[in-house]
Amino acid sequence: MALIVQKYGGTSVGSIELIHKVAARVARVRERGDRVVVAVSAMGDATDRLVDLARSLCPAPDPRELDALLATGEQVSIALLAMALTARGVPARSFTGAQVRIRTTSAHGRARIEAVETAMLTAALDAGIVPVVAGFQGVDAEGAITTIGRGGSDTTAVALAVALRADECQILTDVDGVYTTDPRMVRGARRLERLSFEEMLELAGQGSRVLHLRAVEFAAKYGLALRVLASHGDGPGTLIDREDPTVEAPVVSGIAFNRDEAQIVISGVPNAPDTAHRLLWPVSDAGIEIDMIVLAPNEDGTADFAFTVHRGDYVQALELARRGAAYCPAARVDGTDRVAKMSIVGVGMRSHAGVAARLFATLASAGITVRLVSTSEIRISVLLAEAELERAVHETHDAFSLSGQSGFI
Ligand code: ASP
Ligand code: MG
Repeated sequence: MALIVQKYGGTSVGSIELIHKVAARVARVRERGDRVVVAVSAMGDATDRLVDLARSLCPAPDPRELDALLATGEQVSIALLAMALTARGVPARSFTGAQVRIRTTSAHGRARIEAVETAMLTAALDAGIVPVVAGFQGVDAEGAITTIGRGGSDTTAVALAVALRADECQILTDVDGVYTTDPRMVRGARRLERLSFEEMLELAGQGSRVLHLRAVEFAAKYGLALRVLASHGDGPGTLIDREDPTVEAPVVSGIAFNRDEAQIVISGVPNAPDTAHRLLWPVSDAGIEIDMIVLAPNEDGTADFAFTVHRGDYVQALELARRGAAYCPAARVDGTDRVAKMSIVGVGMRSHAGVAARLFATLASAGITVRLVSTSEIRISVLLAEAELERAVHETHDAFSLSGQSGFI
């Protein structure tokens, strides 16, 4: 008898009809003889509507009260789902984060889960009752309701599964797995049977929105297997687990992309040891996150310096970069927020040379200019003009044979 934690996202419980379908699916797990704990998000766009409601009252709502408000979204869906289960003869009980005692820090809106008490949940399970737990919320040491960041229900599910030592944590959503790339962009995109934690972390960090990054970090840390599945449909989904040493890993498993990018280029600065520090310090001191960085020396003793920031930070970062470069009158500061980042990810890159060369050859023959590059052991990211992103993803998907049956090259 396995213990499964299932998490249903907002679109999966977006109406009463869908909640009945979810209840039927939960009931099937029990019929197989397994025990199940369910975590749910708020119905549809309920959380967005609650945020709008608060903002219409005041532009910067009190964080404690905003969390008290946002947590009501999940309270609605757990109660309805528990009713739907009970109505079909499956004993169920709803639990808010505070009732379970999902204890978090007090950082409202971005609290971190510190501990999950299991007593109430195991008592329910032992009594044959399905616990239905509110995602996205917890309670701090003072008893205040907290939320853990938008999209946080995945993380709640993983935390429950880790605390309960569940056999598997299933994330049921509106797609039937993790794909080689976004199937809305590339029709030939293929569902992956299996991915390693490391690959999923890179994909989630580079723009894939299938899973919340923190949920994957959490699962990886505890070695908890995750499975992404369609909530309304059958199929094995995608298993995210430790690397399987008996299977040769594909060189490239998937392609992620992110349009939330802007690039700043400072040219003609002296190539001195403190250059990067002088130019970047005002930007990072303002709390702006810097992603890719390149310092390229020129033959005349000057250097060109480039970096990327989130698109929303572009205007402020450009201004700060101008300030940073003011010590050098010859410097030119330019930028653009019409850039995007494409990343190829695969654990097989560790043992295969020539992956970067193949990527650059592919983009070159498509006439696509690479503006910046960054890499990790299992990832290569390139910054491109946004207008060329879609073509770049298509060409790269083909070049690494990601369509069809196999991702091996
Ligand atoms: N309902 C919350 C949100 O929309 C949490 C979640 O969906 O995971 O962000
Ligand atoms: Mg939601």
